[in-house]
Amino acid sequence: MKIPIPENLTNLAAECAFPLYLVGGSVRDCLAGFPAGKNPDWDICAPAPEEALIAAAEKLGFTVKSVYRHTGTVKLCDQTGVGYEFTRFRSDKYVRGLHTPAEIEFTTDLGTDARRRDFCANAVYYEIKTETLCDPLDGKRDIERKILRTVAPAKKVFGEDGLRLMRLARFAAETGFLPDAECAAGAKRNRALVKDIFPERVFAELNALLLADRKHGDPEAPYRGLCVLRDTEVLGEILPELASGNGMKQRADFHDYDVLEHAFRCVKYAPPEIRFAALLHDVGKPFCFLRDGNFYRHAEEGERIAGEILSRLKAPAKLKAETCALVKLHMRDSDGKMKQSKVRRELAEQYPLLEKLFALRQADYSACKDDLSPAPAVEKWRRILKEMRTEGAPLSQKELAVNGKDLLEAGVPPKRVGEALADCMEYCVQDGARNERAGLIARAKKRFMEEV
Ligand code: ATP
Ligand code: MG
Repeated sequence: MKIPIPENLTNLAAECAFPLYLVGGSVRDCLAGFPAGKNPDWDICAPAPEEALIAAAEKLGFTVKSVYRHTGTVKLCDQTGVGYEFTRFRSDKYVRGLHTPAEIEFTTDLGTDARRRDFCANAVYYEIKTETLCDPLDGKRDIERKILRTVAPAKKVFGEDGLRLMRLARFAAETGFLPDAECAAGAKRNRALVKDIFPERVFAELNALLLADRKHGDPEAPYRGLCVLRDTEVLGEILPELASGNGMKQRADFHDYDVLEHAFRCVKYAPPEIRFAALLHDVGKPFCFLRDGNFYRHAEEGERIAGEILSRLKAPAKLKAETCALVKLHMRDSDGKMKQSKVRRELAEQYPLLEKLFALRQADYSACKDDLSPAPAVEKWRRILKEMRTEGAPLSQKELAVNGKDLLEAGVPPKRVGEALADCMEYCVQDGARNERAGLIARAKKRFMEEV
């Protein structure tokens, strides 16, 4: 069995006086037959101290990025910029649930090292020099059967480190492997331990899960991972506001699915850039239903709740702001009755977010009844947008035929320029023919020359 690896790694193994192994994702994914990704991460390990690895690596011109003596971990990269993470064989002891081991014992026994890992599929070793597999826990068989089985009783494995609950769902998403019954039951039993994990780590795993289709190109990937989060009830721990939509019925004339399933399907139909918005777009529904018995104004409540969730998970500010805006806007003109003049104003107001908003609305529509035909609301807004474009109507102040300087020169007082530009926008979005310099300057002079 030969795993294609960077030449520098082969050279590093040859330089080491001890056996150097590849382990984890690169071995798993190769055995599963996934084509090599663009930037695979190379996890390597050995029954040897990190100093010995560092000495060999530096001799060959690798750069050591960081060293964690406590866990025997070294991050390094080769001359071409490819990164590697080395770990010395070890066994770990945990304080329940906490991701970082409290006690570490180094070992030279590969089987012992395998049993400190999470899933057997992640504990297949490839000895680089001899090009042979070492598979103490029968992980290759799991990979063939596409299952995720823990390296020790599942209640122990998940009981040690709550991050493994998230990793389980993320691996299920990325690889298509599914937890066996014992693994799923152990995860469920320990679900509350995910709360002991730093929110940033939970966010990073959730984000990777939502983008899991990028890993091996399987469009079902994020949906599958979300189902694992739901079935292990980890979802209720990290996103209780969303999980309470599980089993919550919706109007059968519009919807085939309950509130939660609809959100999952919306993720499935959404492009990567808006997956958080897709997941959270209806997060206001359970709240409104439990409070009022209906879903009225769920988009507004949803905006608030999505903001709370993303703050709690310490999501990047830009993602949070954009997601909240999309959640708030996703119901605009949902009955298709909005007047053309209002739609025109909205199109200009939402201009920077429009493509994402359209994508969300399309995904939301498709997720109601798995209908991939164009969403009528998106079609209507796109048609009006096209008309505005053809007319030359501005969609942002930059596209106005006048700018602030023009208005100042025409005599509009400085403190009224902002107001005058907004007025020009309002005027021109309704008819592109009005977007013409002389006319706009005359209008601004007439309306804004006077101080207020
Ligand atoms: P990926 O394809 O995402 O890199 P991976 O399996 O290589 O998946 P890594 O996070 O790179 O995952 O970790 C490398 C290996 O280290 C894993 O395969 C697993 O054996 C072990 N490992 C990593 N994190 C944990 C953890 N929290 N608990 C137990 N074992 C872990
Ligand atoms: Mg890896």
